[in-house]
Amino acid sequence: MERFDAIVVGAGPAGSSAALTLARKGFSTLLVERGRAPGVKGMFGGRIYAWPLADLVPEWAKDCPIERLVIRENLAFLTEDASLTVSFDSPKLAQGRGTSFTAVRAKFDAWLAKKAQDAGAMLVTGIRVDDLWREGGRVRGVSVAPNDHVASDLVVIAEGAASTLVREAGLKADLEPREVSVGIKETVELPAETIQERFGLGEKEGAAYVYAGHASMGLRGGGFLYTNKASVSIGLVVSSEDLSRKKVEVQDLQTKFRMHPAVQRLLRGGKVVEYSAHLVPELGAGMMPQLSTDGVLVVGDAAGFLINNGYTFRGVDLAIASGIAAGEAAEAARSAGGMSKVNLAVYEKFLRARNVLTDLERFRRAPLYMKNERLFDVYPRMLMEIAERMYTVDGSGKERLFDVVLDEASAAKVPKLKMLLDLLHGAGSM
Ligand SMILES: Cc1cc2nc3c(=O)[nH]c(=O)nc-3n(C[C@H](O)[C@H](O)[C@H](O)COP(=O)(O)OP(=O)(O)OC[C@H]3O[C@@H](n4cnc5c(N)ncnc54)[C@H](O)[C@@H]3O)c2cc1C
Repeated sequence: MERFDAIVVGAGPAGSSAALTLARKGFSTLLVERGRAPGVKGMFGGRIYAWPLADLVPEWAKDCPIERLVIRENLAFLTEDASLTVSFDSPKLAQGRGTSFTAVRAKFDAWLAKKAQDAGAMLVTGIRVDDLWREGGRVRGVSVAPNDHVASDLVVIAEGAASTLVREAGLKADLEPREVSVGIKETVELPAETIQERFGLGEKEGAAYVYAGHASMGLRGGGFLYTNKASVSIGLVVSSEDLSRKKVEVQDLQTKFRMHPAVQRLLRGGKVVEYSAHLVPELGAGMMPQLSTDGVLVVGDAAGFLINNGYTFRGVDLAIASGIAAGEAAEAARSAGGMSKVNLAVYEKFLRARNVLTDLERFRRAPLYMKNERLFDVYPRMLMEIAERMYTVDGSGKERLFDVVLDEASAAKVPKLKMLLDLLHGAGSM
C-alpha cells in the first residue's frame, strides 16, 4: 500500500496551499483532485484578496494569472428600472497587502497546484476520494475505491462547501438549508478595449460591483460583477431557504438580473460563454465543524471559512490562509510527537495568528443580520425613492432633503425605532 505523511483532499485554493506548505516543511504529500485538472470544478465570483499569497508565495505577482487589479469598488442598489451606485476609486486598492485582483479559477487553481508540485507535493487528478480509511478506530488514510486505500498520518480535508468527508469524520452534522446559499455565475465575453472604455479602466485595472435590492428580487442575497481581461463575471448569491420557500428558480433570477437596464448597459454586445452554480457556506463562525481530530484537519470552505458581510465576499483568501495554518499545525504536531487529536488542536492557534478565526468571529453576527428581509427590499427601495425625489426638478415645488427622507421613512411603513435598531445592528455586525 502506498503511504504518505499527509494526504490533502481537493486541489482548490485551500488544498493546494496546505499541500504547498506541508511539502515545504518536508512532509511527503499527496494532493488528490477529482477534477481532470485543478480549477476545472472550481467556481467563484471573481475576486481574490491577495494578502495570504504574499506569505505563501512571496513573489506571487510575477507569474500569478491575474486578470485585472481591482482599483474601483461599487455598491449598487437596484429597483425594477433604476439604480443608485456608490463608487470608491483609489490606486491604493491595488497596492501592498491590501491588493485584490480578479481571476479565472481554472487558471488560478492550476497555478497554485503547480507551486505545490514544485515544492515536492505529488498531484493526482481525476480521482475522487470516496471515504476516510480507518484502522483501529483512527483515520489512517483515504479510500479511493472500495478496496483501494492510501495510507497517511494526516488527512487534510479541503473538499469545499459540500464536503462529505467532514461528515464522515463525525466533525459535523449534515448541511442545513439555512447554512448555505446558492451561488450562480455567468461569464460574459467582451473585448478588453470595450471593458476598459465602458468601465473607465486602464489596461490592467479592474472594477468590482456588489448589487443589493432588486438584483435578488427581494430574496435574501445580492449580485456581483467583476471585470476580467476580456470578460465579465456576473452572478448572484441567494439564500437557499428563500429560493425553496418562495419557489423561485435561481436561473430565472439571474436572467432578470442580467437584463436589468443598469446591468445591461455594462454587458451590451457581450456573449455568455460559461454558466455555473455552487453552494456557498453562509454562516461563517456559526457553522464551523470541529476543525481537527486524530489524523484530520479541515480547511477552507469545508470548514465554513467564508465571510460575506454585504460589502466584501471573502472565501479564497481564508481558504489560502487556513491551508498555510494547517501546514504549520502539522509541523507543530510532528514536533510534539505525532498527528494526535491533542497535538493537532494547535491548528486553532495558527488560524488565529493568521486572522482567519479572528475575522470570522468578528463578523459572526453578519449572517444573522443579513437574514433581515428589509435590507433586500424595503431599504433599497426607500433609498431609490429618496434619490429620485432628490434629483427630480419638474417645477412642482421642490422639497428639502430632510423632509423627503422623513416622508419616505414614513411611507416605508417600518416603525422608526425598528429602522434605528436595524441601523445600529448593521453597524455592529458588518
Ligand atoms: C457564486 C460564488 C461566488 C464567490 N465569489 C467569491 C469571490 O469573489 N471571492 C472569494 O474570495 N470567494 C468567493 N467565493 C467563495 C470561494 O469560491 C470559496 O470560498 C473557495 O473556493 C474555497 O476554496 P476551497 O479550496 O476551500 O474549496 P473549493 O474551491 O470548492 O475546492 C475544493 C476542491 O476539492 C475538490 N474535491 C471535492 N471533493 C473531492 C473529493 N472527494 N476528492 C477529490 N477532490 C475533491 C473539488 O473538485 C475542488 O477542486 C464564491 C463562491 C461562490 C459559489
